[in-house]
Order: sequence, then C-alpha cells, then structure tokens
Amino acid sequence: MISMIRDVALGLGYIDARPVTGHPFNVWRDRLMNIPLGQHMMFEHDPVNASGWPLEEITVWVAIAPTPPMVDWPEGCGELGGFYLHSAQQEKRLIAWEDAVIDLGFEIVRDVTLPERAAAIRAGFGVHGLNGLLITPHYGSFVNISVLLLHAAPPHGVRGPEHDLSPGCGSCGDCIKACPTGAITGDGVNALICLRNYISRPLRMPVGDYQKMGRRIQGCDTCQQACPCNAGITREYPPADMIEHMKIEKLLAAPDVDSMSQYVMRDYLQENRVKSQAALAAANTGRTDLLSLVEALIGSEDEALDKMARWAVERLRSHE
Ligand code: SF4
Ligand code: SF4
Repeated sequence: MISMIRDVALGLGYIDARPVTGHPFNVWRDRLMNIPLGQHMMFEHDPVNASGWPLEEITVWVAIAPTPPMVDWPEGCGELGGFYLHSAQQEKRLIAWEDAVIDLGFEIVRDVTLPERAAAIRAGFGVHGLNGLLITPHYGSFVNISVLLLHAAPPHGVRGPEHDLSPGCGSCGDCIKACPTGAITGDGVNALICLRNYISRPLRMPVGDYQKMGRRIQGCDTCQQACPCNAGITREYPPADMIEHMKIEKLLAAPDVDSMSQYVMRDYLQENRVKSQAALAAANTGRTDLLSLVEALIGSEDEALDKMARWAVERLRSHE
C-alpha cells in the first residue's frame, strides 16, 4: 500500500508523501486554544471524529509540494503571495490524488479539515516556525501540505503522536521584526491582527492598518521573505497573463476572475474582496490617475468595499 499511494503522489508532482497514524492531534489543538484566533476556529483535530472509523483502521497520508515565492510584482500591479498563485494547481492535485487512491480500491474522506501542519510535523517533514508555518529543510516554509484520510490500518512502524512536539525553528526573531502589524511575538502568531487574515475578514481590519496593506491583494509573504530558512529558495516570476490581470486598474474595474482562477482558487477571488484590496493598493501607491475608478466603488452594498473605497478616495484626493 505504501509504495502505491506514494508513487501516485510523486507522479502528480508532490515532492514526498508519508503515512502517519490517526491519533488525535492534541498538541495542535492545545496550542490553538492558547492563541486568540484559535478559539474562533472550527477544525476537527481527531481523525476518528472526522471519519467515523476506529483508530486502528485509519491512516493519515501527508504530502507536500513546493509553492515557490514570487519576485516582486511589477509596479502598477497588486500582489499575490506564492501560496495563492499556486492554489488552484494544489487543489486540482489533491483531487487527482484522492481520485487515484479511490481507483486503487481505498475508501477516503474528502474535504477533510484536519490540521495539515500538525500532520506534516508528525510525518517528519519539518518543524514548527515561530511564524506559524511548517519549515522544511529544502523548501523552507514555501510548501503546500495535502492530507488524505484513508480507511486502512496504518502500516507497521509509521510515525505517531510521539513525534507531535516539534523542536521549533530556533526563534531567530527576524519574522518578528519584519511583520508590519506586530502579529508575531515570542509566543507565536496572533492571527487576529495578521494582514493575511484581515483580507478574508476585512471589516475586522482597523482603519489605521489600511496603509500597512501596501498593494497586497491576497496573502502576505513578509514574514516568510524575512526568514533565514527561506534565504536560498529561488523566487519565481509571475506568469505574463497574471501580470496583466493583476494591474490595479483592472482589479478595480472588473477583475477577470474566470481567467485568474486557472492559478488562484475561486475562494480567494471573491470580487468585492479583490476590489476592496485594489482600492487600498491604489491609495497606498498614490495612483491618483485611478481616482475615478475608486470613486465608483463608493456606495457598494458590500460594507467593507464601501468603507475601504471611501478611505482610498480621501487619501488619493489629499495627493492631488
Ligand atoms: S524568521 Fe526566525 S523565528 Fe521566524 S520562523 Fe524563521 S527561523 Fe523562526
Ligand atoms: S503574514 Fe504578514 S501580517 Fe501576517 S504574521 Fe506574517 S508578516 Fe505579519
């Protein structure tokens, strides 16, 4: 079983895939309960609850694939993080892995929300970074983690919860210094004040932080770019068609969500959210030539879009 499932994963472009036991991820759950955002998160930490199968009939498979960081996006474009630019590909890859494993005759649970970073640490893929991410030896924190919940007894000798306590990244503190909102401390990440989290919950973002958003449209790689564990990783150029789609004027007027979704998962392309971020990007880069496009967003029924557009217009007018 191990070689078949792993071979399928490698054939799909994962760089490695390993099985672990289905014991509950208690270390992860306890850590989550001790951070502000964790108490608001509804993740299942126990594969038995997620599947309804007895522990001895569960194997959790974990696979990782690189999501290389981007070079700086060209001037005039909004920015997408490396994880997001590869997200549609990662989603398709996981579905293909699941389909292939079903074709091999196994039963699985789809759309499982088990803690993928905790599963990857149990599998021995890396350590827990102070920035909240898995840090691997060869790809740093720029990896996507896929988890597959399989109805099969775990192979003899696979890693279990005795490996769940990660030694940690070494805590050099460079990510703490780099984070624009002060979200990282020696205790880890306060995701409630992380820019990445504000993008999906825009009404929670204090107006005083709008300027810190820069020209980010989805994601924030600042703490990863600062991390010495990522220093040697080659950055990718965004595809030429995405550079066109990410021009701020296009995002403000009519983001081409259909075309962008060949790279970016649809969940990350909600049109009003993209326009809200583009309004901030226009203001934060002083694009007074885009003032009329931003003004047109005022009055939107989307409260966050209306609020951000008003802020952006006020700021752009002050530049005129
Ligand atoms: S920057 Fe330093 S403290 Fe932060 S995750 Fe990287 S190694 Fe850990
Ligand atoms: S993603 Fe950005 S805002 Fe969030 S912790 Fe990292 S540097 Fe800070």
